[in-house]
Amino acid sequence: MHSTSQPKWVIVGAGFTGAVLAERIAGVLDQKVLVIDRRDHIAGNAYDYPGAYGVLIHKYGPHIFHTNSEAIWTYLSRFTEWRPYFHHVLAHVDGRYTPIPFNLNTLTDLFPARMAERLSDALIGAYGYGTKVPILKMRQDGNPELTFLADYVYSRVFENYTFKQWGMKPEDLAPSVSARVPVHVSRDDRYFQDRFQAMPVDGYTAMFKRMLNHPNIDVSLNTEYEAVRELYPDAKVVFTGPIDEYFRYQHGALPYRSLRFRLVETPESMVQPVGTVNYPNEFGFTRITEFKHLTGQKGEGSVLVEEYPEAYVPGTNEPYYPIPTEGTSQALQPYQQMARDLSGKVWFAGRLGDYAYYNMDQACGRALALFEKQLAPASVG
Ligand code: FAD
Ligand code: UDP
Repeated sequence: MHSTSQPKWVIVGAGFTGAVLAERIAGVLDQKVLVIDRRDHIAGNAYDYPGAYGVLIHKYGPHIFHTNSEAIWTYLSRFTEWRPYFHHVLAHVDGRYTPIPFNLNTLTDLFPARMAERLSDALIGAYGYGTKVPILKMRQDGNPELTFLADYVYSRVFENYTFKQWGMKPEDLAPSVSARVPVHVSRDDRYFQDRFQAMPVDGYTAMFKRMLNHPNIDVSLNTEYEAVRELYPDAKVVFTGPIDEYFRYQHGALPYRSLRFRLVETPESMVQPVGTVNYPNEFGFTRITEFKHLTGQKGEGSVLVEEYPEAYVPGTNEPYYPIPTEGTSQALQPYQQMARDLSGKVWFAGRLGDYAYYNMDQACGRALALFEKQLAPASVG
């Protein structure tokens, strides 16, 4: 329930973007904020809850926190303690479970010793030890030995996984998508290389509860923006839902990719050797994640999640991923113009509001920057 006093701000969405902004406005500006979300819980896609065997389940897919930004790390550390966690991923390739991102250990694992050594020398010679090379760049480099390796990695690791995940080939997406998982010219096979990598000790939902726990913040769940759109004519609005939805699809619907999650519960205490196993080349799902690796929970019973990519169909599933392509960046432009026309009154931010493939730390960083540069100055008067 929310209090009777009129909010100065309405924030649509209780995910990272909305919660960070609510916390800043309430705490720093000392102004009333109403946070609404159409879901029946806070934390957006980072929401977690205890499931079978007490295992903490990430309802919207596995979420691992990582960042290079000390400022973001310090900010979030006000609301949670952390458990250090380095995510490791194996991919099922040519009948073996081998480390991903593709790295020098993967080479040793998949190729005969002499060949692995030659390819390894070629990689180090071309790019230098410790570098990271996007697969699409490696495919264009022209060195025959590396072209062979690049084609191998492309066909075994990227091509089919990407087709499952996006319904497209890697080269038809923005290069930044496959570059999220570059070839590592090193033996560091952690999935992320960031300076800070950890999981919130009590989970994400507990962290969000602490962020939103302020007398200036009211949270209204099960609430559609359409239902409150006209209720607070004087309030400033931050919208973290899909930008095309806000403008009632006036310039056409933007495409998103969705997922279906299938939970698998087992009495065994642990099933996989690492947090996630990718299946680029078989099955309808892309990967299986075992939550206990992420949460550090021990004891009997385990829960895993399979991710089945599918098209987004409004009203039936969730718009999890904006689809970064040349075409969508064009289609976004008229909406960005409409957003600019509302400046000073309505702001758009977040993975859906910006239509940008943000990780959690990026959503948080975007919110902190928006607050400093635009919302705080706009709040005066
Ligand atoms: P969201 O979390 O999507 O929050 C937006 C909220 O707005 C939602 O709760 C929604 O219900 C609400 N909303 C939207 N429209 C309306 C409306 N009209 N009315 C009312 N409410 C509305 N990031 C990482 O850093 N590490 C990971 O390991 C990771 N794994 C991921 C795995 C999957 C499968 C997915 C999909 C994402 C993953 N992410 C990960 C990304 C992470 O989820 C996002 O960066 C983050 O959740 C973005 O926060 P947000 O607040 O912008 O959006
Ligand atoms: N990718 C791939 N094979 C893999 C892992 C990743 O082809 O084994 C590609 C795929 O296109 C994927 C993208 O790299 O969508 C980004 O992967 P990431 O694990 O970052 O995806 P997310 O966790 O955001 O779903």
